Amino acid sequence: MQTSGESVASKLLGWYDRHARALPWRAPPGTPSPDPYRVWLAEVMLQQTTVAHAAPYYERFLERWPTVAALAAADEAEVMGAWAGLGYYSRARNLIACARAVAERGSFPEDEAELRALPGIGDYTAAAIAAIAFGRPAVAVDANVERVVARLFAIAAPLPGAKPAIRVATRTIAPIARHGDFAQAVMDLGATVCTIRNPSCGRCPLRADCAGYATGDPVAFPVKAAKKAKPLRRGRAYLVQKGGAVWLVRRPAKGMLGGMRALPDDGWSARGDGGRTPPSCGNWRSTGVVRHGFTHFDLELEVVVGSDCGDLDEGEWWPLERLGEAGLPTLFVKAARLVLDDAAAQREADRRDHDHDQAEVAPPVRRRQRAEAGAEDRDRQDDPVAPAEEGNGGRDRQQQRDQAEEDGKDVEHVSCLDRTPRQRKRGN
Ligand code: SF4
Repeated sequence: MQTSGESVASKLLGWYDRHARALPWRAPPGTPSPDPYRVWLAEVMLQQTTVAHAAPYYERFLERWPTVAALAAADEAEVMGAWAGLGYYSRARNLIACARAVAERGSFPEDEAELRALPGIGDYTAAAIAAIAFGRPAVAVDANVERVVARLFAIAAPLPGAKPAIRVATRTIAPIARHGDFAQAVMDLGATVCTIRNPSCGRCPLRADCAGYATGDPVAFPVKAAKKAKPLRRGRAYLVQKGGAVWLVRRPAKGMLGGMRALPDDGWSARGDGGRTPPSCGNWRSTGVVRHGFTHFDLELEVVVGSDCGDLDEGEWWPLERLGEAGLPTLFVKAARLVLDDAAAQREADRRDHDHDQAEVAPPVRRRQRAEAGAEDRDRQDDPVAPAEEGNGGRDRQQQRDQAEEDGKDVEHVSCLDRTPRQRKRGN
């Protein structure tokens, strides 16, 4: 099927004028271009993230750092904390570096090549900023655009090898004006009509031009190369609580999740499993495993809870009731939830068992025990994050450990004589 560049662009722009998505970083069709800071911020956040997920982060960033100069002057740890949950943390580090580079030169460059020279700005983001913020004739090809164009031209070569052909094909349908609107129109068509699994060809403005539609199986495009299986890594995260606080560390500035607050772990990485060495001597009990997918590998993270721990290495006690403000990466939020939700459920089960037991004893005894239980409950309320075992019939810790071992639970005793090399060096 033949496509006409002129006709495709005008049909698409006409459709965009009627159906453009209203997004906080957008200027409506046909109006002056939006602030390049807003375009850049949104495009960086939207890499690998959905619009619905990124939008609240975008609003919060703009409220806190309304200009690129404000972001350039921001504390790096604060920016990393505000980014937590968006993933791909190297982007947050590049965001700060880019803001500082732009603030130093005074403004964003308009030229695609100069934009590409800034930290964290690749081909797509440079083209998107040039087209949307500066009206330059740049062709921005993201996953949505790839899909629309591969279908429109029925490009049979598999991705990622087909990328250059898709770029060339996109250029042939680009208009001679309204470059920003065109870029956003193709993105919107891909996001709302030409979707991954169920394209709505019946309401598509390009149906008459679409070679993929003509094949009867547009979903076959873009053709994807067979995926390589991702390696599986295994590691441990350690959770230690004290007086309503949890021990958090700051990860090294460089590397995975660099500079973020986190639970201590055993050194797992993309290249290998963790060493299973806890952060101090003490008693360590496995509570379960959380799974997390990174770009290049999958991780099974065993969450291990410590008690009677010795001195911990560098870190801070962070209040449990403010854990949501710590800026933990999603992986460690999952790990902390595994333990804390489990503890809350255990407390609730204990409370129910206790109420049930009280209903079955004789009235005079029940009254006396209710009074005692009330005192116990009041104690527990004073410590809203008390570990489950603290409300478990008054057994001491040693009894609980013995019972756990009898039950076949994995309790690991790490003597202070078996301290980690770093701790031995520190003489702890
Ligand atoms: S006709 Fe269907 S496959 Fe072709 S661009 Fe439109 S929605 Fe996509």
